[in-house]
Amino acid sequence: MHPTTPALSAPEYRLPESHHAFVRACRVIPGGVNSPARAFGAVGGEPPFMARAQGQYLYDIDGHQYIDYIGSWGPMILGHAHPAVRAAVVEALDLGSSFGAPTTREVEIAEAVVAAVPSIEKVRFVSSGTEAAMSTIRVARGVTGRNKIVKMAGHYHGHVDALLVQAGSAATTLGTPNSPGVTPGATEDTILCPFNDAEAVADALSRFPGQVAAVLLEPVAGNMGLVPPRPGYLERLRELTEKAGTLLVFDEVMTGFRLALGGAQERFGVTPDLTALGKIIGGGLPAAAYGARAGVMESISPVGPIFQAGTLSGNPLAMAAGLTTLRLLRDDPPYDRLDALTARLEDGLRRVASDARVPHVVQRVGSMITLFFNPEEVHDYDDARRSDTKLFARFFWELLARGVYLPCSQFEAAFVSAAHTDADIDHTIAAANEALKAIMG
Ligand SMILES: *Cc1c(COP(=O)(O)O)cnc(C)c1O
Repeated sequence: MHPTTPALSAPEYRLPESHHAFVRACRVIPGGVNSPARAFGAVGGEPPFMARAQGQYLYDIDGHQYIDYIGSWGPMILGHAHPAVRAAVVEALDLGSSFGAPTTREVEIAEAVVAAVPSIEKVRFVSSGTEAAMSTIRVARGVTGRNKIVKMAGHYHGHVDALLVQAGSAATTLGTPNSPGVTPGATEDTILCPFNDAEAVADALSRFPGQVAAVLLEPVAGNMGLVPPRPGYLERLRELTEKAGTLLVFDEVMTGFRLALGGAQERFGVTPDLTALGKIIGGGLPAAAYGARAGVMESISPVGPIFQAGTLSGNPLAMAAGLTTLRLLRDDPPYDRLDALTARLEDGLRRVASDARVPHVVQRVGSMITLFFNPEEVHDYDDARRSDTKLFARFFWELLARGVYLPCSQFEAAFVSAAHTDADIDHTIAAANEALKAIMG
């Protein structure tokens, strides 16, 4: 939902097989894609179609290999087609792909989530991050009997009606929808605040006393490029919400199991009331979840009155992939190595961008990283939007042509996986150096 940049010029990078597939796709699928982020709208041109992926690499149908920094937009922390994950899915498939009845694998993965994530005593599985975020809001409203929610500009929580608001105003404003088809009624209870401005939240809570059900945010923002919380910000939100009887909701769909096994809440030591999870929790298959302390979760059906359901929720294949992924992350935590690998990338990008005299700032938390073509540090959506997106688009294509696949927008975090090596990172830095030299002449 970020503003798109017009293509600078048709990229020289030619992909005949992908072009053919894209033309065919556009006849029967809107924009040729099943999710808009894949369509290269922000960088212009046409996306390569992928044939397969292994470890840290993607392979397109034109025969090119890419070092992958998308990781399916977050899930593939162990790399693609991990042998243990693959084996677990195949084993589950042989036993039947969906029952619509409970399975022990759901209990095992729920136990793994409860053990890992500090705020969660009980957890409910759903099939997408959108569903998870939507459900946290329903539960927060149902439990508090309040209607209003606070969300942060530039934070993405899936395509939930009430959350498709991010006008990016510096002031606390009442939200207006930013998609046709979302009624003003759906967003009239959504209060927009800038990220990293706790006083804006304090102001919203005091302007609507006893009316705010939830303050919802990405504890580390990844959907406007990587933007860390300022020191003390999450702690202050915890205090403010507690005082106001408002539930603090962390959308950890991206950060869960990535910034630590217990997500951003473990890494930063701030415990929310409700947590949305997704991406890694499905190990590359469609699964997501939301959880909280037992009292809150027991307000949902069939125990309590708040309704939420799903035909394919807890799907056996997704649970097998997710459970295997979580166990691998628990038993052989890759987090220190991911930190070191991504720090190497951070240092290298900073070095080559400085050498090329490009205004830039590199922001990173753990294995999430963004090179902003922005002279200033980025703390909120307004800062992010001052980045040079035209320059980013050129950089993106220059890197793609050199076998490096970054997220196709300045406003998306890149991910490093446990399958990446120092050699991949060094190749990427060298490619970035060549790319910036080519661009800056
Ligand atoms: C990806 C994402 C979502 C949406 O998840 P889907 O599975 O795409 O519906 C929600 N919140 C955050 C923070 C995300 O990164």
